[in-house]
Amino acid sequence: MLAGPGPAAPYADPLWYSRESSLYYNVSHERLGREIRAYVDEFIAPFADEWEKDGYVSAEALQRHAMRGYAAVSIFPLSPEHVPLDIPLPGDGKDRISGVIWGLSCGNSIGCPPVLNYGTPEQKAQFLPDVYASRSKFCLGITEPNAGSDVAGIKTTAERKGDVYVVNGAKKWITNGIYADWCTAAVRTGGSGKGGISALIIPLKARGVTRKKMQNSGVNASSTYIEFDDAEVLIANLLGNENEGFEIVISDFNHERIWLATTSLRLARVCAEDSYNYAIECEVFGKKLYGSQVIRAKLSSIGRQIDPASAYMEQLVYWMMVAHRDQNPKLRKIRHHQMGGLIANLKVMAGRVLENVTHEAQQVLGGTGYNRAGKGARVEQISRDVRVMGVGGGSDEILTELALNQEVRFLSAMAKL
Ligand SMILES: Cc1cc2nc3c(=O)[nH]c(=O)nc-3n(C[C@H](O)[C@H](O)[C@H](O)COP(=O)(O)OP(=O)(O)OC[C@H]3O[C@@H](n4cnc5c(N)ncnc54)[C@H](O)[C@@H]3O)c2cc1C
Repeated sequence: MLAGPGPAAPYADPLWYSRESSLYYNVSHERLGREIRAYVDEFIAPFADEWEKDGYVSAEALQRHAMRGYAAVSIFPLSPEHVPLDIPLPGDGKDRISGVIWGLSCGNSIGCPPVLNYGTPEQKAQFLPDVYASRSKFCLGITEPNAGSDVAGIKTTAERKGDVYVVNGAKKWITNGIYADWCTAAVRTGGSGKGGISALIIPLKARGVTRKKMQNSGVNASSTYIEFDDAEVLIANLLGNENEGFEIVISDFNHERIWLATTSLRLARVCAEDSYNYAIECEVFGKKLYGSQVIRAKLSSIGRQIDPASAYMEQLVYWMMVAHRDQNPKLRKIRHHQMGGLIANLKVMAGRVLENVTHEAQQVLGGTGYNRAGKGARVEQISRDVRVMGVGGGSDEILTELALNQEVRFLSAMAKL
C-alpha cells in the first residue's frame, strides 16, 4: 500500500499517494515524499512570502537546502543507479510553493549539468563539490537581450588573449544570476550560427561583470540581467572544445523541461486543493459553494486535466531513466534525442494545464483568489508565476514546432531501419 503523505482534497496529490499500487513508485519514494513535505512545511512554507517580497531566498535557507542534499539532487544525472522518477519526486514535493522555489536551486539545476556531463575530471573536481556543499552556486546563461528562442543567434563574444578569454556582451533573465558565483554561458568564439558557440564557465565576481535584478510579474527571487565588459575568464574554464559548445549548453533542455512540467502540475494540484477547500467551507445564497453543480464541474475538470498530464509525465520520465541507464554512450545519446519532442510537448501541455486550472481555481475562490493574503494567497501567487511556464525553458510556440518536427524525424528514421 503506497499510502503517501498529503491532504485529502481531490486531485491535490498524485494518484499513487492514495491507490494500492504503482508501476513506478515504491515505499522508498513514499518515505522520500514524506521527508520532503515535512522539510517544506517547516523550513520553506513559513518564509516563502517574505523571500518572495525581498526577492531573495535567505543564505541560511540555501545552506540548509544544500546540506539536506536537495542542491545535489536537482542536478541531473546524479549516478547511473538513479531510481525511476527520482527527478519529479523532489520537485513534486518542493513545488507546492510557487515563486521562491526558483530561487532555491534552479540555477544549479540548469547550470551544473553541462559541467557534470562535459567537464574534464579536473573541472568536475574544481566546481561540483562546492555546489553540493552550498559553498558556491551556478546559473545558466544562454538568453540575451536580442537572442532568446534563437539560441544560435547569441552575440556575447569571448576573445582569446593568452591564457584568458575576454568576454563582452549581456545575458538576460538569468535565473539565480544575482547570487550565483559561476555562470555556464554560451559565448561566441567563432563565426555566426551554432558552429561559432562555446560553453564557458564565467566567474560572476570577476572584474568587468555587473548584475542587476529584473522585476518580473512573478518568480521574484530569481531573474537577473548580467553584463560583461572586458571580463577575463581563464581558458581552463572552457567546457569541451572551442566552437563546439552549442550542443553542450542545450544538452540539459530535456531535464529542465521535465522539471518545469513537474512544477506546473504540482502547482495545479495546489490550485485543486485550495479551491476545493474553499468550496466546501464557503457559503453562498444560504448553502455551501460546493453544493453548486457548476462549481463541482470546475473542480472535476481540474482533476481531468491534471491526472492525465501526470500519467504522461511519469511515462516519459521512466523512458528518460531507461535512456540514462543505457551503458552504450552512443545509444544513450540517441535515446535522449528521441525524447526531446515528447518532452517539449509535455512541457507545453503541463503549462497549459496550469493556466486553465489557475483560472478555474480563481473563479471558485472569487475575490479571495485575487488577494495576496488569506485562503487564496497560494493561488494568487501562482496566477502571477504561471506565465513563465509558457516562455521559460523554450516558449510554447517554439516547443510545439519542435515536438512535431522531432517526432516526424524519429518515425522516418525508424522506417529506414
Ligand atoms: C522567469 C524566466 C527565467 C528564465 N531563466 C533563464 C535562465 O536561467 N537562463 C537563460 O539562458 N534564459 C532564461 N530565460 C529566458 C527564456 O529561455 C526565454 O525567455 C525564452 O527562450 C524565449 O525567449 P525570448 O523571451 O527572448 O522571446 P523571443 O525569442 O524574442 O520570442 C518572442 C515571442 O515570439 C515567439 N517566437 C519566436 N520565434 C518564433 C518563430 N520562429 N515562430 C513563431 N513564434 C516565434 C516566441 O514563442 C515568443 O512568444 C528565462 C525566462 C524567464 C521569463
